[in-house]
Amino acid sequence: MCLCVTHSNFKNLVNPLARKKFLPSAQLSQLIDLSTCLKDNKKCMYGECSICSNNLQLTMEEDELLTEVKYFQWVNVSETITIRGKERIIKKVEKKALQTTLKDLVSIFFEKLAVFKKHRYDISHQYKEIKNLKKGLTSHEILFLIDLSENYGLKFGEEIQSMHFGGSRQHISLHTGVMYSREETSEPLTVTSFATISENLNHSSHAIVAHMRPIFQLAKERKRSEIHFIHFLSDSPSSQYRNQFTINFMKKELLRQFPQLQGFVWNYSISGHGKGAADGVGAVLKRTADMKVAQGADIADVSKFYSVLNTSCPGIIVYQVPGEDILMAERELKNVHSTPFKGIMNVHQIIWNLEGFKLNSLSSCILLLPFIGLWFIFMEYKLHNLSSCKFFIINNCA
Ligand SMILES: [Zn+2]
Ligand SMILES: [Zn+2]
Repeated sequence: MCLCVTHSNFKNLVNPLARKKFLPSAQLSQLIDLSTCLKDNKKCMYGECSICSNNLQLTMEEDELLTEVKYFQWVNVSETITIRGKERIIKKVEKKALQTTLKDLVSIFFEKLAVFKKHRYDISHQYKEIKNLKKGLTSHEILFLIDLSENYGLKFGEEIQSMHFGGSRQHISLHTGVMYSREETSEPLTVTSFATISENLNHSSHAIVAHMRPIFQLAKERKRSEIHFIHFLSDSPSSQYRNQFTINFMKKELLRQFPQLQGFVWNYSISGHGKGAADGVGAVLKRTADMKVAQGADIADVSKFYSVLNTSCPGIIVYQVPGEDILMAERELKNVHSTPFKGIMNVHQIIWNLEGFKLNSLSSCILLLPFIGLWFIFMEYKLHNLSSCKFFIINNCA
């Protein structure tokens, strides 16, 4: 069951309408089927099809329209909290009970139905593209799914009461991911789960690069073929992955680590969807650590967390990133020339190749397989000095 805000809020609009039998079903997938000709068709799902755009009709009596109805929605709220004597504003999502007339609820429903259908289409498009990318991944490519997990609070088997309520609990940061690669096109994919942990809680651009360094090293050790193209898929918080500093610093780092690299692409998943595998690695590690604590272990520092996970989760490769490495990356970042990206908040994909950067804002058009195919053909021609071959980018893969 999807728990993203878009899904959850739409379900909370459907529930009161379905309960009063104004809607033919409370099932979101059935409502999609009833309101479209074909749920795989972008035009239908984007409300651009003239045949199905008015398919779903709600029937109610005139005198019912002003009836008051209650419904719930998740909304963003700001709260001021005090941490170590300093006031800080934190943003969080809260479930609120709202009230309106049936007439207004119906118009909100149709407005959100349009948003929800686009969301559903984008998710299934993204899943298909990830599947296709994995299927077509060549021996010269790697795909990284990465996720910066919530910090983990260190725990003791027998905790003193004050630790539960005070701010004394120490935290560590946890960066998790999955690497996909293959040596031969005919071979099945090799899937490597990894995690990097640090006592330095910084989550910004330089920290992302510092956390990925041991993973790039791992990729070099594990892969026999030269790496020409790297795909990243992550969630899209602007403070971490979706900003010019992360991308520019990463470009410099990748070229240093993989001198044969011809390009990389950073794909941003639809909020709350898509990075499932990387998310799963973080969940397994936290659950395992909690289980060890429940059995009486003290996980008092990052080294203990590392040794517990290293022995208990042999399927996940864990590295410890010293705080000093993150500080060193911070100093290095100051010398990185950063190309500014206009409109970065609306892009779903940033591509870099030897020609430069390209930002793509197509809805979840994440892989541009034709683009990468043409890119390799172009490079082949270039290497063989056949200068008549023109390089071009396909702008639309939907
Ligand atoms: Zn969703
Ligand atoms: Zn249609």
